[in-house]
Amino acid sequence: MINGLSGYNYDFDMVSITIQLLILICYIARKNMPVRQNSSFLRAMIANLVVSFFDIVACELLAIWQQVPVFLLYFFNIGYFFMFAVRIWYLFDYVIEVTRAYRWVTKRDRVLVALPCIVYLALVITTPIHKGIFYIDSAAGYKSGYLYKGLYHLSYFYVVLSLLIVINRAKKINKRIIMGSVAFNAVLLVGLWVRNLFPKVLVMGFFSTTAIFIIFLSALNPDIYYDKEVKVFNKLAFETIMVENIYKKYTFHIVIVKLRNFDVLKTVYGINQTLSAVDEVGAWLNDNFSKTNIYYFGNGLFALSWRFLDDYEEKINKINARFEEPWVSSGTEVTFTPAMAVIKPANMPDKTSEIIELIDYVSENNMDFENNSYIIVDEIIIGKMRRKRKVEKTIARVLKDNQMKAFFQPIYSTKEKKIVGAEALARIIDPEMGYIPPNEFIQIAEQNGSIMEMGRQIFERVCEFISKYDLKAMGMEFVNVNLSPAQCLNEHLAEEFKMIAEKHKVSLDMIDFEITETSIEDLLKIQAQMENLKKEGATFSLDDFGTGTSNLTRLLSLPLSVIKLDMSVVWSYFKGASKILPDLVNMFKKSNLRIVVEGVETKEMCDTLAEMGCDYEQGYFFSKPIPGEDFIKLISKETK
Ligand code: C2E
Ligand code: CA
Ligand code: CA
Repeated sequence: MINGLSGYNYDFDMVSITIQLLILICYIARKNMPVRQNSSFLRAMIANLVVSFFDIVACELLAIWQQVPVFLLYFFNIGYFFMFAVRIWYLFDYVIEVTRAYRWVTKRDRVLVALPCIVYLALVITTPIHKGIFYIDSAAGYKSGYLYKGLYHLSYFYVVLSLLIVINRAKKINKRIIMGSVAFNAVLLVGLWVRNLFPKVLVMGFFSTTAIFIIFLSALNPDIYYDKEVKVFNKLAFETIMVENIYKKYTFHIVIVKLRNFDVLKTVYGINQTLSAVDEVGAWLNDNFSKTNIYYFGNGLFALSWRFLDDYEEKINKINARFEEPWVSSGTEVTFTPAMAVIKPANMPDKTSEIIELIDYVSENNMDFENNSYIIVDEIIIGKMRRKRKVEKTIARVLKDNQMKAFFQPIYSTKEKKIVGAEALARIIDPEMGYIPPNEFIQIAEQNGSIMEMGRQIFERVCEFISKYDLKAMGMEFVNVNLSPAQCLNEHLAEEFKMIAEKHKVSLDMIDFEITETSIEDLLKIQAQMENLKKEGATFSLDDFGTGTSNLTRLLSLPLSVIKLDMSVVWSYFKGASKILPDLVNMFKKSNLRIVVEGVETKEMCDTLAEMGCDYEQGYFFSKPIPGEDFIKLISKETK
């Protein structure tokens, strides 16, 4: 037991000072987020040490008070009371920050909640005059004043307020932060209570240090804000820093660094090699941009942010130069090509969620900038992102209301010299946004997964159309339905479509599914679905032939009946740019595949292509895609 001159017990204080010092060292030794929650925490820790120091010195001096000048007694005791209140304030301030309660605790509110503390501090400083907190009696030494309990009331006030704030914000923030905040305030409550019971034991320092230790372990634990492997900040840290940057109206830059073809590289180098090379990138960024916050969002996506008005070009050039060299990790060399984007303060969205969306958008859609190593995120890109989000919302609404539409474009048979089929094309007609091109909304639906539901609704419209007008009886032989690659990966596709067709009493032998080359990448999965649907009489076309790089052997191993030649191939023949079209037609005829040519816009094209041996033709010459009833009118006119 360490009892000193005064007879107070210092065991708890010694332990807590040691632990506090250790935490402080651990904390300072690493890179912390430059946000106020961290500076509040740092201040609370320093205050904690200072309180313990004043506490011990004050107690010791009181034991020999008769030999000590009175002003020293006042100084150390005032210091103790003062710092005690300051510590409580910083812990409270930390709670406001970490729970992001500053969103609704305005600056004015903060001054208001600070008032009790300010008043108390004023009372402490002036205590030699009014003797409220304590005084030094010339006969008896140290005496508590009538406001002695004020310190406890003040502490209870802030601890209880902290708990209320935490409970109020519980749903909005990270669970671990909540648990940590509840726990440390509970510890403080217990400490205050014990101190009240045993005033001779200096336990408060111990409880405060325990509280700080809890904060350190929970909210400031590296796992929460750091990417464990890459050793830079993670997305939660990004969010926390951005929320504060925006709230506090700082100007800041963001640079996005996306490692191109990350998924492909993982298969080329192996996952472990690639990931440890990413760790190297993180380490290099850390070493070279010490004044910059570095984040890793996963999947080869890094971001840098900084607040001072530094030049981004210098950083980008430096990064580019480094990426010209391979990243060496455990003997293997991995080469990454970065694609970068800069968000300048002038174009910075004023919501964290929008910044994150913008980063997602840019890294998904805009990183193909040909020869440029970086792009500047400008109004045009932000406009596109906003439009994408609007389209996304529209898609969601249309699908929810089962309002997906199909238009039909006639397919003409060159042998029968009449329209014998149609291609169903997806349409969204939105009262607000007007016409949204399918190329736009299909891509978005594929990215966010809603293509599945969209495909179902379109197929349902097709079945409704076929059964409503009894197309077979009208001499129609087939309706083509587009399948996107994502749909082909769905193992229940055949099952689902069979059910929809049955519901409308439509036979699948009226349906021709159009697939594209990208669907064929997962050969086994698509084959299984195709076989299943073929059993019911459906046929398959290969769409857009001539737009990709075809692996003919693979293509011909699939149960395809029709090849659709893309209009780019057709048009380049008629423009005289390429003579390959007749050879393609011959080749597919030899393989017993029927041929549809797309983009037929004139009588001349129609005749030439028929002569060349194309079985079917599709294009504006016959009709644009039109609503079902217009299609019926069109074919009825033809047969008259
Ligand atoms: P696609 O499957 O190649 O469809 C043919 C596109 O060419 C249609 O564009 C059609 O309107 C257009 N077209 C037809 N004839 C002519 C012509 O003579 N001249 C010109 N300039 N264009 C012609 P649309 O309707 O805008 O559809 C664009 C693409 O969106 C489609 O290309 C297809 O890839 C996709 N798409 C449309 N509907 C669906 C659908 O229901 N499901 C899926 N997965 N994709 C669809
Ligand atoms: Ca098509
Ligand atoms: Ca096509």
